[in-house]
Amino acid sequence: MHDPSTAPDDGPGTLFGLDALTPGPPAAAAAAGGPLFRDSSTARRLLPVREIHAEPAAAASPRGRQILARFPDARVVEVDSHWRVPGLHGNEGNVERWVRIKGETLVLGERKTLTTRPNGRSADWIAPGASNGCAMACAYCYVPRRKGYANPVTVFTNIDRIIAHLGRHIARQGPKPEPNQCDPEAWVYDVGENGDCSVDALICDNTADLVHAFRQWPTAKASFATKFVNPDLLALDPRGRTRIRFSVMPPDDSRLLDVRTSPVAERIAAAGDFLDAGYEVHFNLSPVVVRPGWEEAWAGLLRHLDDVLPDRVKRQAAAEVITLTHNRELHEVNLGWHPRAEEVLWRPELQQAKRSENGALNVRYRNSVKAGAVERLRALVAAHAPWLRVRYAF
Ligand code: SF4
Repeated sequence: MHDPSTAPDDGPGTLFGLDALTPGPPAAAAAAGGPLFRDSSTARRLLPVREIHAEPAAAASPRGRQILARFPDARVVEVDSHWRVPGLHGNEGNVERWVRIKGETLVLGERKTLTTRPNGRSADWIAPGASNGCAMACAYCYVPRRKGYANPVTVFTNIDRIIAHLGRHIARQGPKPEPNQCDPEAWVYDVGENGDCSVDALICDNTADLVHAFRQWPTAKASFATKFVNPDLLALDPRGRTRIRFSVMPPDDSRLLDVRTSPVAERIAAAGDFLDAGYEVHFNLSPVVVRPGWEEAWAGLLRHLDDVLPDRVKRQAAAEVITLTHNRELHEVNLGWHPRAEEVLWRPELQQAKRSENGALNVRYRNSVKAGAVERLRALVAAHAPWLRVRYAF
């Protein structure tokens, strides 16, 4: 049956419309007078943007102009489509420059198709993202598979249309009829499926606009996972309508696999501040990478969570547990820039292949390995962090 709530929805007319963009004080004003982190030398080092590939309409839009003004020294290259940037897309050969391209290159485009998809695991719905791509370089990340591997951030500048679409979608759902594991009351919308909203907030106000929009929608809640601590988000006043999910894994795995991210201890240490700033704070225990010693490493991480998190964080926390999914093409690309990561990610003796809808060959742990790992991790949570409700595990 055709489900109207998943149909592309980019027409005019909306219940919430552009009012939802209002917004509160821009981050700059709300940051208690202090300078924004995104203007700091640390942030500039993470994103030393030198080249911006822009669709003309995106560059001319208010959001596009804001971004171009933030990086006045960047070379601007006009492109027909954010999906066809010569030298970036479909060029696995960029692997040698991969990590550099991530920080030095931005793409500006307009999101043409606005579709909200049902999910049911991490969130009730997957919202059309306000970006895709990421300035970080986690070795297992599935995002670059769809973008030819050189995968800098593409910012969608028509955030007003994305928010108007969400307003209509939320209005159509009405109140959530019954609790589920996503949330007891609110429809949860994942707004960061293909990137990291904390990093996007280093570039422009798209994340701030989403956070501000959701606080006006009493039946819905935004949700995004992050591996980056961006203190500018603390000024956004989400009023409980945004769930931030700090992704955590044992620090040794993270140092090997989570290239360019904030250290795990920093993400955990930030949880109390984000709760106090009005976020709901959850955790993604992900990805769970089965390697020699993995159980001891996760037990150590869970003990660390138990030791350092304030009670107020523990009382509202919940977690998703996600075992590693990998991919043959990504494996081959990684061998070119980070072969040590593949020693733990590519374990054919433990994994099985599955052809995905788009023809890619994905690998995941064999059913028995995965079931055993999930069961073991649940037991470790029960033993070391019994306050941590596992929303789902797979
Ligand atoms: S932070 Fe997330 S989106 Fe970015 S590279 Fe890592 S897994 Fe991918």
